[in-house]
Amino acid sequence: MSKIGIMGGTFDPIHYGHLVTAEAVRSTFDLDNVLFVPTGNPPHKKGYKVTGSVHRYLMTVLATVTNPFFEVSRIEIDSEGYSYTIDTIKGLKKIYGKTADLYFISGADAILEIITWKQVNELLDLCFFVAATRPGYELKELNQKINEIKKIYNKQIFSLEVPAMAISSTDIRKRVREKRPIKYLLPESVEYYIKKNKLYV
Ligand code: NAP
Repeated sequence: MSKIGIMGGTFDPIHYGHLVTAEAVRSTFDLDNVLFVPTGNPPHKKGYKVTGSVHRYLMTVLATVTNPFFEVSRIEIDSEGYSYTIDTIKGLKKIYGKTADLYFISGADAILEIITWKQVNELLDLCFFVAATRPGYELKELNQKINEIKKIYNKQIFSLEVPAMAISSTDIRKRVREKRPIKYLLPESVEYYIKKNKLYV
């Protein structure tokens, strides 16, 4: 029986908050590996212009290269049309086999909206969910909402507070635009990649 973390996110750009979260979930839930899955064409980001998927994928590869337990998947960026988590999880189940337990890791905000996601009932059957929160996020309120979702679907959802999640992709993009430093918020290789490709300017 293997236990695999699935770290789904836009990663625009990936930062230390994401990396610390993945490592914290890996050790807390005793996972064998964490697979980072950059989103392809996210159905919920219709209003905001997301950076090209190849840039986001390459930044994720650069950021995870030093951790032997981390891998990156092209499953969403190579698929056409909108990427729904249900399709991704079904695809990954085929790759890892029926004996693998999958733990889908994402931000609390995204997971709280899960009731609006495609085929949520089946999705909750196929994998466990771990909601990562930023400090200052009202943990009591979050757990209350998670309990409501659990009651409706009778499925397990975990939450984990991760201090490093105070870093945010939105803030990093804003800092680049305003020519403020982003050093120490994300791996140096990703910082150089952003500069070289003139992203977020
Ligand atoms: P988001 O709205 O960009 O992010 C929500 C919050 O969670 C942000 O504060 C974000 O911080 C944080 N976050 C994002 N990914 C995280 C991760 N893996 N670990 C910890 N925090 C994370 O959400 P998103 O990144 O676009 O989507 C998250 C996942 O949910 C993706 O895999 C997406 O495909 C899935 N999703 C599926 C559906 C569907 O199937 N219908 C709908 C919505 C989302 P940063 O900005 O700093 O990253």
